[in-house]
Amino acid sequence: MIPAGFAYRRASTVDEALALLAEHGDEAKLLAGGHSLLPLMKLRFAAPEVVVDIAPLTELKFVRLDGNEVVIGALSRYHDLEHDPVLAEHAPLLAHVSGAVGDPQVRHRGTIGGSLVHADAAADLPAAVLAADGTLVARGPSGERTIPAADFFLGPFTTPLEPDELLTEIRLPSQAGQGWGFEKFTRRAIDWAIVGVAVTGKAVGLINMGGTPLRASATEAALASGATAAEAAALAAEDTSPPEEPHATSEYRKHLARVLTARALASAGIS
Ligand SMILES: Cc1cc2nc3c(=O)[nH]c(=O)nc-3n(C[C@H](O)[C@H](O)[C@H](O)COP(=O)(O)OP(=O)(O)OC[C@H]3O[C@@H](n4cnc5c(N)ncnc54)[C@H](O)[C@@H]3O)c2cc1C
Repeated sequence: MIPAGFAYRRASTVDEALALLAEHGDEAKLLAGGHSLLPLMKLRFAAPEVVVDIAPLTELKFVRLDGNEVVIGALSRYHDLEHDPVLAEHAPLLAHVSGAVGDPQVRHRGTIGGSLVHADAAADLPAAVLAADGTLVARGPSGERTIPAADFFLGPFTTPLEPDELLTEIRLPSQAGQGWGFEKFTRRAIDWAIVGVAVTGKAVGLINMGGTPLRASATEAALASGATAAEAAALAAEDTSPPEEPHATSEYRKHLARVLTARALASAGIS
């Protein structure tokens, strides 16, 4: 498939990217790793008139510690996150999940910011950031604002970001020393999850169990009130509406959520 025609603009600073967004408004789309935007353009589900390439923004490729928070630049690629020593110590779930996305080509191009803004409920990082109580930082014409991950995923492929805003960084409280676990059930090795579960401490994120990434609230509440991991995992599909597809029914996904939560809790050292 061939995308509709578009103008290509390259931004080399955040200010330049914001100026281009202000100039072109709704007609512009940011291009980070391109691994979601370009397939959509080729299928003509997206047809921006202007593509603003932000891949060169080295100022948004970093991982650093700020007090008790890990701060991740939005243009950081999965491969870099998977191998980052600060993340390995302070957000080991996120480092591991980054290494479970797609295949090596996807991990060398795709960015954490692109994944969060694309807001696919089947994607891996959004549920991990949600479980880690992350905060997203966006910059726009009226300055900077922070959005808790819990308020960021409004619906399928829908976030509160305005067309003239750029996601700049993701902040997570340090999870150093906490147990964590990740389970991703796929049909083939490099596929998206049919269902996935991300656990850090006693927080549980669910992948592909509804229109957005979710927290397994009933499981978390049960753990907080002293239930065993087995009792809590049995509640993992409460209040979820997973998609119904020929290869994975909604009921099958609910079963997977319970089984995978039990496994992820065990990996996190919760019994
Ligand atoms: C073969 C294949 C397999 C894949 N497998 C998986 C998988 O197993 N798990 C998984 O989670 N994902 C998977 N993906 C998706 C992949 O993770 C994408 O990289 C990701 O969804 C989007 O990140 P990107 O950097 O490529 O963003 P892009 O495609 O460049 O952009 C995606 C969207 O986000 C916007 N955007 C990007 N960056 C910013 C920013 N900083 N501020 C504001 N808006 C921004 C863009 O305008 C666009 O709307 C796969 C993709 C492919 C092609």
